[in-house]
Amino acid sequence: MANLLWLQTGSCSGDTMSLLTADGPSIESLIRSGAIELLWHPSLTNAPSGHLARLIAAIEAGEQALDILCIEGSLITGPVGTGMFDAYKGRPKIEIVASLAAQAQHVVAMGTCATFGGIPAAPPNPTDCTGLQFDRALPGGLLPADWRSRSGQPVINLAGCPVHPLTITRCLAMLAAGLPLELDFLNRPTAFFSSTVHQGCTRNEYHEYDMEDHQLGERGCLYFNLGCQGPMTLANCNSALWNGRSSKTRAGVPCFGCTSPDFPRDVDLFRTEKIGAVPVNLPLGVARAHYMAYKNLALKAAPDRLKDREMEP
Ligand code: SF4
Repeated sequence: MANLLWLQTGSCSGDTMSLLTADGPSIESLIRSGAIELLWHPSLTNAPSGHLARLIAAIEAGEQALDILCIEGSLITGPVGTGMFDAYKGRPKIEIVASLAAQAQHVVAMGTCATFGGIPAAPPNPTDCTGLQFDRALPGGLLPADWRSRSGQPVINLAGCPVHPLTITRCLAMLAAGLPLELDFLNRPTAFFSSTVHQGCTRNEYHEYDMEDHQLGERGCLYFNLGCQGPMTLANCNSALWNGRSSKTRAGVPCFGCTSPDFPRDVDLFRTEKIGAVPVNLPLGVARAHYMAYKNLALKAAPDRLKDREMEP
């Protein structure tokens, strides 16, 4: 069994909403099976006023062990580095987070706000937000780049706006079971962040033959005109479906790249930036010269069944 304390900082509670929809495993099953003991969650804990303050004091005093610390939300350091825009009982949350992190076996950043800063850290970033151990793509956020938890790992970054429900509960289950978590170059577990959103998208065949959507509601690929970031975004949205049945691209909405450190990008999210007819951002690892040669041939090779758009996306 591993105990878990979940704190919210600059957050919209989206990752908590995501947590509640997880079903394989669900947070209830993790608790009921004894894998997770919930010390505190702001939406799930039914404890008297003052319980959290006593818990924090006990952990800081070394009287209460802490196995997993989950942080949901951007770390607000303003005004002028005091952190007092976001305080608990007169104490800046950034100070509490850093203090609890020093005691925790594992620290998990829940969502892109906690991992990289996210929407609150987008320019002009009026509240001076940052991520827990990254500031956008730069290593070092509230905690320095070389910081390590008691288990020897950096902050485990579960990126996403919100993070995928199954990524949350499967990561927690692995930590509780003592299973190793391999991390990528942004400290995201490779078990959940090694394939692109493009892989598994039902619009893949349209992408392959350059069948382009020009407005929402059509059945082609959303990459060429409508801003889809699926081929450049590492996440499991189309391999582990949301609510077991769908994803944004399956529902006809472009991927916004929300697991990436530069999310939200300062561009029109529903429009593809292009040079001529070719998108500025190409699928991961694709050379521009090769892509242009391929694109010119692909549409000519498209089968009539796709051109007629008779198949469901
Ligand atoms: S809609 Fe996006 S994720 Fe789907 S095939 Fe096109 S580029 Fe890939």
